[in-house]
Amino acid sequence: MLLKGKKAWAPLSSILHRQQRKSLFSSSSTTLRFPITTAHQPKYPSPASYNPETCGASSSSSIITTTRSHHSLRISWKSFCSKAETPRCWSCKALPHAAPFLVCDDCRTIQPVDPSVDYFQIFGLEKKYEVEDGNLEGKYKAWQKKLHPDLVHSKSEKEREFAAEQSARVIDAYRTLTNSLTRAIYIMKIQGVDVDEEETISEPELLAEIMEIREAVEEAPNSKALNELKDLMQKKLQLWSDSFANAFQSQKFEEAINCIRRMKYYSRVNEEIVKRL
Ligand SMILES: [Zn+2]
Repeated sequence: MLLKGKKAWAPLSSILHRQQRKSLFSSSSTTLRFPITTAHQPKYPSPASYNPETCGASSSSSIITTTRSHHSLRISWKSFCSKAETPRCWSCKALPHAAPFLVCDDCRTIQPVDPSVDYFQIFGLEKKYEVEDGNLEGKYKAWQKKLHPDLVHSKSEKEREFAAEQSARVIDAYRTLTNSLTRAIYIMKIQGVDVDEEETISEPELLAEIMEIREAVEEAPNSKALNELKDLMQKKLQLWSDSFANAFQSQKFEEAINCIRRMKYYSRVNEEIVKRL
């Protein structure tokens, strides 16, 4: 059995359960502190047309732009990448069958993390704010079944490390994408827009509203009252999430950042309510 001996990792089922619970009921403060320092990352073509594994992460975005905007001069991605070392499975040397290349399709060996593969690509999603794939949870579980460190406990130390890193990254990707606030911050980040999370809101109206809600939370007599406040926060979050989607779609990034700040406030109050329930 795989689970024999001293177990350094929590069983897969408990991890899945734990992550699911977290992502469904709260916006984790850990994910809120996701570093948003990257100034600019290149915009890649959609996962369907671009295999990040076949070309170096930093291979210029300008090349992609050129080939995309001048169709007559289109040069295949592959020919540009031909000089770059094509990543192969570190164990059996096979080429990846498809992106993303987290596990070798031939020998099932777990590959090292490739930071150029973004969270949307991990789940084969279009890079847009509204996630329409109803099967995201299924895809997440499928990855964990292939990557969970329990599965490689008898393999080399190198592969165990890769498993731990890949598994943690997939968890982070799932958490980030299933929470509207962290997803908004993340998509801005990969678009090259920094969101200063420490910047506070100075609008007196919003501050007054937040204070009022906080008071209501503190004075809530029972869980029914708290649940009503929670519903209210969910509605506010949804409203500002929709506004963010529109602002982001039209590339109005200032407006989008404003929406994120509001979402953050409502999300915090929501967390406080959840703690009291
Ligand atoms: Zn292989």
